[in-house]
Amino acid sequence: MAMVVTQPCIGCKDKACLPVCPVECFHEDESMVYIDPDECIDCGACVPECPEEAIFYEDDVPDQWKGFIEMNATKSAECPSAHE
Ligand code: SF4
Repeated sequence: MAMVVTQPCIGCKDKACLPVCPVECFHEDESMVYIDPDECIDCGACVPECPEEAIFYEDDVPDQWKGFIEMNATKSAECPSAHE
């Protein structure tokens, strides 16, 4: 299980989620950030930091955004780390 970044992240450049992640498991492309489900430890620290309320626990992802669960896994494997 892991946290999942969803639709409202698209276009947001705030990135307040990044510095609070203890395992630096965010990846990014030009659209949004993604959480590597194999690295995320479900600490929840990123959730209140997201100004768009885009991050959900995997089981709680709204139905219309379920596709983001698989997308976070595949994009994390393809995209570079979002941590400097
Ligand atoms: Fe990182 Fe914790 Fe958020 Fe997982 S829940 S992405 S470990 S801050």
